Formats: sequence, C-alpha cells, structure tokens
Amino acid sequence: MITYNVSEDFTGGNITVLEITENKVEVRINYRDSAPWCYWAFNVTGAAGKTIIFNFNEDAVGYFGAAVSYDLKKWHWSHPNEYRSDTKERESFTYTFGPDENEVYFAHNMLYNPSNFENVDFMDKFILCNDLDDIPVPMATMGEGEKVILMTARHHACEAPANYILEGALKELYENPIDGYRIVTVPFVDMKGVVCGDQGKGRKPHDHNRDYNDNSIYPTVRAIKELLDKENVKCVFDFHSPCHLGNGNDSTSLVNAYESMRDEMKELSRLFASEIKEDCFKFRDGRITWRDEPLKGTFSAYSGSINTVDFVCTIENPYFGEPDNIMTQEKYLSTGRAFARAMKKFVESKQER
Ligand SMILES: [Zn+2]
Repeated sequence: MITYNVSEDFTGGNITVLEITENKVEVRINYRDSAPWCYWAFNVTGAAGKTIIFNFNEDAVGYFGAAVSYDLKKWHWSHPNEYRSDTKERESFTYTFGPDENEVYFAHNMLYNPSNFENVDFMDKFILCNDLDDIPVPMATMGEGEKVILMTARHHACEAPANYILEGALKELYENPIDGYRIVTVPFVDMKGVVCGDQGKGRKPHDHNRDYNDNSIYPTVRAIKELLDKENVKCVFDFHSPCHLGNGNDSTSLVNAYESMRDEMKELSRLFASEIKEDCFKFRDGRITWRDEPLKGTFSAYSGSINTVDFVCTIENPYFGEPDNIMTQEKYLSTGRAFARAMKKFVESKQER
C-alpha cells in the first residue's frame, strides 16, 4: 500500500502522476495550453523516512537537482554539489525524506508566488485589473515625481527568478530613490498563469509577451497599455528568465529591442557589470542580445513605441546558474540590487544629457 501522496494542489502546482510505487514515481510536466516547456512543481506528503525517485522521462531537472521548500518561501537545491551536465541525469532526481519531512515542495526552480510579494511592504499596493477567472492582478508604486519607471515581471508565468531580481531592485530603489521618478511595478503580468502553475511561455494562441497587438486578449496586457497611455513612463524594465538551461541560458543577460537604444544599452551593461559584487551572480559586461528590429507583439516593442518612453530593457536571469555561479534566493536579491544601482546611475546620467 502506498502511504504517501504527490499533488499539484497548491499555488503554482503543476504535475501529472502516471504511476506511483513504494520508491518511484513517474511524473510528467503539464504543458497545458503551452508549447513543450520546462516548468513543474509538486508537493509530497507522508513520505518521511523514505527514499523516492521522481522520474520525468525528459530533461526537466536543473543542474543542481530540484528546488526544495517546506513552506513555499525558502528554497534550496536538492543536490547543490552535483552538477548534472548530462541530459540523461536531468530526467530524474532522488530524494531521501528526513524523519520530520512530512510535507516537501519540489519545483523546477525557486518559486516566487504572489504571497512572496508581501516582502515588498514598503510600496503602496493597488489592484491593476482582474485577470481571467476574476483573479486580481496586483500593482505597486513608490516615490514622488512626475516621471515614471515601469518595472514588470512574469509576462511568462513560469519565470519566477525574475521576481527575486525585481524584489531586490525595488528594495534598493526604496532605500536609494531616483529623484523625480515614481516607480510603478506590475510583478505578475500573467497572474492567472502564476497562480495555476502554467508554463505561460508559448501559450496558444500566443503568450502575454506576444499580446501587445491591436486586439490584446489578456486583461492585464490591456490594463498595462492603458497605464502606458495615462502615465508619463520614461523607462521600462521587463524581468524574465530564459530557456531551461544551456546555450547561453545559464548567465544573466540584457536584451535590446531597439537599434536606436544601442549606445544606452551598452552604457547600462557597463554600469550593471561594475555594480556586481561577490554576493551577486556574475554578469559580464556586453552580455546583450541585440535585435535588428523590435519583436512584434512583445512588451518591449510596444512600450518602446510609446511617445513618452525613451528607454526599454529586458533582463534575462537564469534558473540555475553554473557550478561556480550557482543561483540562490539571496543572490537573486543581491543581483536585483546591483541592477537597481546601475539603473539609478543610468537614469540620472541620462537626465543630465
Ligand atoms: Zn520570458
């Protein structure tokens, strides 16, 4: 008789259980309405003292095993000292539950759920709009000033690291505000996707970051477009995470949408690299993805076309990092702070030009 349970029944949960035996569970990622992608999250109850293999049958686990949590707030890697460079090694992970580990959460990456945004208790909070299924979408503001910096995350629901970077940046900007600017943030653009544990990326017919067209289908995208019309937004920073891993997806990078912003992007990259301290992820100056022209339907393309907006940047932050550059929640936050220090210098020097 199986005495433990595997479930996706919590905020951000995503798993299908195919088969469960005494020491092995066949699990599968739920793509739902998205293209095949990498996000999964489940909890296990009643397995204290057992050793269990969780098998995905595809490259689904990160370099350092599963992200593990007991409270959905604090996360660590299950195997931080094993570097799974081989695809086959990333099809499963084995976990030995301690004698008191009666409820454990496992996920592809270190989740950042809407309740984590309670950490940002220094901003004024509002409801931007209601998402599909009437799920309220939070927004927050701080600072005085007639000009606005808009900061967003989770245009793709699964990209939780983006929120840690954003939170670190907001904390830094609260302590060291930019004169004359108000900060406005929408931390969970695909709010319903975050709550339901969707991939979000590559959603059909298109995802939130391809919805900035004439007929936007997502309520939050429509509300952000209105916000851009109404507010005097000068700069836009959109926080993302890249693909699962490999091929340039293992380190932090910036994405430039507009050729006309090339020189400024180089300047921001230089400032960001110079702010990276020991407690941050490495960021190499010049790690920028250049686009010849803005990618149609994206938030960066749309916001950059708004009259008031004169700078747009997308920041990609990896899920796992590298053996000498391993991701932790603390490092995410410190990297966000470094980015905000760079932003502040960048915006202030821009003002002088
Ligand atoms: Zn993304």
